[in-house]
Amino acid sequence: MSAAEAVTDALRDLHGRFAGVREGRRADYIPELTRSDPDDFGLALVSMDGHSYSAGAADTPFSLQSVSKPFVYALALASLGLEEVSRWVGAEPSGEAFNAISLEAGTGRPANAMVNAGAIVTTALVPDSREAPAFHRILTCLSRFAGRKLDVDEDVYASESATGDRNRALAYLIRSARALPVDPVAAVDTYFRQCAVRATAVDLAVMAATLAHGGVNPVTGERVVPPEVAAQVLAVMATCGMYDASGDWLLRVGLPAKSGVSGGLIAAGPARFGLAAYSPLLDAAGTSVRGYAALGALSERLGLHLMKNPALPGSTVTLVTTADVLPSAPSGRRERALRGRVGVVAAQGALDFTAAERVLYALDESGPERAGSVVLDLREVTGADSVALELLHAGLSRLAREGRRAAVVDPGDRLGPPDLVRERTGQDLPRFGSREEAAEHCAQALAAPG
Ligand code: GLN
Repeated sequence: MSAAEAVTDALRDLHGRFAGVREGRRADYIPELTRSDPDDFGLALVSMDGHSYSAGAADTPFSLQSVSKPFVYALALASLGLEEVSRWVGAEPSGEAFNAISLEAGTGRPANAMVNAGAIVTTALVPDSREAPAFHRILTCLSRFAGRKLDVDEDVYASESATGDRNRALAYLIRSARALPVDPVAAVDTYFRQCAVRATAVDLAVMAATLAHGGVNPVTGERVVPPEVAAQVLAVMATCGMYDASGDWLLRVGLPAKSGVSGGLIAAGPARFGLAAYSPLLDAAGTSVRGYAALGALSERLGLHLMKNPALPGSTVTLVTTADVLPSAPSGRRERALRGRVGVVAAQGALDFTAAERVLYALDESGPERAGSVVLDLREVTGADSVALELLHAGLSRLAREGRRAAVVDPGDRLGPPDLVRERTGQDLPRFGSREEAAEHCAQALAAPG
């Protein structure tokens, strides 16, 4: 037993809750998919530290089907960039089924990369390279997302290839509008192969976690796609990943997600978790019934709905006062009066834009009548991102222009190296190791102006 088993218990609990659901049916338009076991039901969760938890049939392999689409979209975006990819495939929810003729009137451009029409185009955009043919690049990319070498279920591929006329028809339609850059037969063949790539629910959770983790696989540590690509893919998953059920899913579950007709389902909690489910019984939209129920319940239980502001940050500013009330303040009347004109602000934690705004607001409020000098104590600050730094520098520079001197307690150089601070704030910001020394410096400076 270990403490983290409690996470597994939560998954087992959900598994038990929904394992008895018998609604839905397996996809049979790809005959091979009816060979799956309708009782199979797996759940998996992978954290941003790469910790993996699962319950049920989480190690049972199945074909990715449409769950492959966001990852191949990622590969196309990483190879060609958003502008080029967007010339060929849009980013608007189609409000239609996955296999609908969702093409823009006039241009023939598919609505988005999550429906079949758009995914066929996305796949066709991945160029053969000198080192590797397109499908090899796709398989390698999917494998890097999963953190292990994946392979193709040749039976599923053959089965879809033998029955996939609707997808071929879609490809020919797109080609007729000159919106497909390659031969329709070849494009669909590569697309069928990508859909037949085999993985488990645990693999899927790692893949989703890689998107949630800004494109870095949290298990292997490998960067698979740039952070902006991961964000773009998650955005399209959020609006289009569940086809004509996307709006309802975002409303109720609140996570970027992607379903597939073999019964796989992924959802990503940005900067939180990758989630996956596998259960072959599907609803009318082609989504795993148990998967939908379980990931929905998991999102609720873990508070993952994106619109719920789960990250409302804890307190940043821990103190706004004047230096005369610091425990070490001198007792003489004159010294105390001087100290009373020195504001003190202390901050803590990791500073981002939201936190930096709080610090600047506190600086303004500190000191008597928003005047006098001010000590900014950053000892308890653990880090500041580039946006926070820029804002803090600009704020300190404004403070100086208003005639308020500042001193910082910043032994960890959270504000950046002194040269950079000088350049950005237009002043030599005095730095001290303790709040006391900084307060004393400011009081002395007020006593001897100039
Ligand atoms: N290979 C399947 C198809 O093209 C994928 C569809 C899906 O998973 N929704 O029909």
